[in-house]
Amino acid sequence: MKVIERYFSNIKNCIHDFSINLESIHSSVSDSRLYSQALSEHKQLFLNLLLSTSQEEIETNTLQLVHFTIEHDISYLFLYSELITVARKLLGSLVEQQDFENIADINRYFTGHEDRISVLYLQKFLKQLTLKNELRLSHISIMPDKKFMIHYESHIRWILNLISYIQQNEFNDFYPELDPNLCEFGLWMRGASTSYLLSTSHFQVIEKLHINLHDLAANVISYCQNKIFRPATLIHLMQRIDYYSLEIGNEIAFLNEIEESSKDPLTHLLTRRLFDKIMMNKLDISKATGREFSLMMCDLDHFKNVNDTYGHAVGDIVLKNFATILEQTLRKSDYIFRFGGEEFMILLPTTDKEEALLIGQKICDITAAEEVMVEGRALRYTVSIGVISVLIDNTVPILQNTIDRFVIQVDEKLYLAKERGRNRVE
Ligand code: GH3
Ligand code: MG
Ligand code: MG
Repeated sequence: MKVIERYFSNIKNCIHDFSINLESIHSSVSDSRLYSQALSEHKQLFLNLLLSTSQEEIETNTLQLVHFTIEHDISYLFLYSELITVARKLLGSLVEQQDFENIADINRYFTGHEDRISVLYLQKFLKQLTLKNELRLSHISIMPDKKFMIHYESHIRWILNLISYIQQNEFNDFYPELDPNLCEFGLWMRGASTSYLLSTSHFQVIEKLHINLHDLAANVISYCQNKIFRPATLIHLMQRIDYYSLEIGNEIAFLNEIEESSKDPLTHLLTRRLFDKIMMNKLDISKATGREFSLMMCDLDHFKNVNDTYGHAVGDIVLKNFATILEQTLRKSDYIFRFGGEEFMILLPTTDKEEALLIGQKICDITAAEEVMVEGRALRYTVSIGVISVLIDNTVPILQNTIDRFVIQVDEKLYLAKERGRNRVE
């Protein structure tokens, strides 16, 4: 300590130079008054720490400095670069003066500060991160309609588990699931109920963020279990995890909106609005992989008669009944749209025309055999189906017009089925 005290006036000068640099950067930013006020307070606390003359003083001043830094959302990197800049300046001036005697001591002095600051910063940062995430959980819990936020909740709980893992002193093997496919959130993403979300760009962004986040978490665990515990690295990793997590939250909020507009209220099938988006994505994939997919258009036969005979409400029941048949007959990976009144479009990924025709026939047969009970009487109805397969040349650009052309083609097939007597597939 005594050795360092000889250099206190040098340290003061170095800090002075560093903060002048900073002020010149921040004065160019508008509304920086509050920030520069915080910075000058921060500078004072930093100075107090570096000019401490006893171990006790060092402990208290480190605590105060780190506390202030966290409270004011000042990054660890800032604090670290402040420390390193001062250390470099001081060592540089000693070399210039050819005063080599105390270089090792001064080095040790600054490394000591760095170690104390990083350990304390990590502790406080993790506490603050826990509070932030608990607050997010409580915000979600009071949402009237959570929808996908339920899954974000499970993701936040996963983050909280990761934080508590780092906070414990002994690092055992009971850490949160590291495989992005196996954590609760990942299972939801891979589940059947999300298949229609797959082609939305928001969902794709979430998938990427989620994988990145798990990569970072795997790093966190391996750093924890490593004998050389590096708080600075953990701070950095956890800051990025928090950032990715927030981004996932944003994207989930968008998905909630998409969900709002993409489900038909009567049948809960997808609406036509989402069709173009999903088609665009599937055409892209088909173009890239050279694999075809199929489109199937279904139209209920003489549906006007159903309405005229039994009334509109019964017509609605029949529509719902047909939607259920589709959902039960098709695969989870198929996309079912209510395209118009009694028209349904189905996109069957990686399915060729032969397979699609077989599936279409199956839907026709099941529908014709179905009995819808109305006031004790069995109502029967049939459906006509048109099928085409879609394969796009990889030299052709995909435009709205490309999609419209395929819709016209499948509609022509449907028309053929009607013309050839209905209750059939073409
Ligand atoms: P086709 O075999 O040639 O398809 O004959 P169709 O009677 O089914 O065809 P058309 O297009 O003449 O009639 C479709 C009917 O579907 C007319 C419309 O009132 C009815 N419709 C459309 N949307 C709804 C709906 O949401 N609920 C009910 N109940 N009926 C609907
Ligand atoms: Mg029709
Ligand atoms: Mg019809």
